[in-house]
Amino acid sequence: MDTQSEKPQIETVELTDEQWRERLTSDQYEVLRRQATEPAFTGEYVNMKDDGTYQCAGCGAELFSSDTKFESGTGWPSFYEPAVAANVGTRPDHTHGMLRTEAFCRRCGGHLGHVFDDGPNPTGLRYCINSAALQFDTEK
Ligand code: FE
Repeated sequence: MDTQSEKPQIETVELTDEQWRERLTSDQYEVLRRQATEPAFTGEYVNMKDDGTYQCAGCGAELFSSDTKFESGTGWPSFYEPAVAANVGTRPDHTHGMLRTEAFCRRCGGHLGHVFDDGPNPTGLRYCINSAALQFDTEK
């Protein structure tokens, strides 16, 4: 699931660590810039069912739509596919003694969460995303 090779031309956001610390809340910073995982069932979007778009909390890139959000029971917002495929990159993550697939924002490089292959149709994928990496917009 490494899509690094098909790199589309998108405008990237590059800030210094200090600028990210200023721009983000500490929870957002820990997830987006330090690859942290928020505790299950604590994020503000776990049970969100409103219609809208989930953007990157770091840079505003459009990432996921409420149309693909589903109840996974895991405690994290779960989607079966990105809203804009070019904005969500994946790469292998070998940390914590596991081989997982990390999902990250292609525009700012921010860590979003992980992708698993136990999702529902039509993709069979589960994008398990930290609420702290997202900001919800009621506009579609
Ligand atoms: Fe971003």
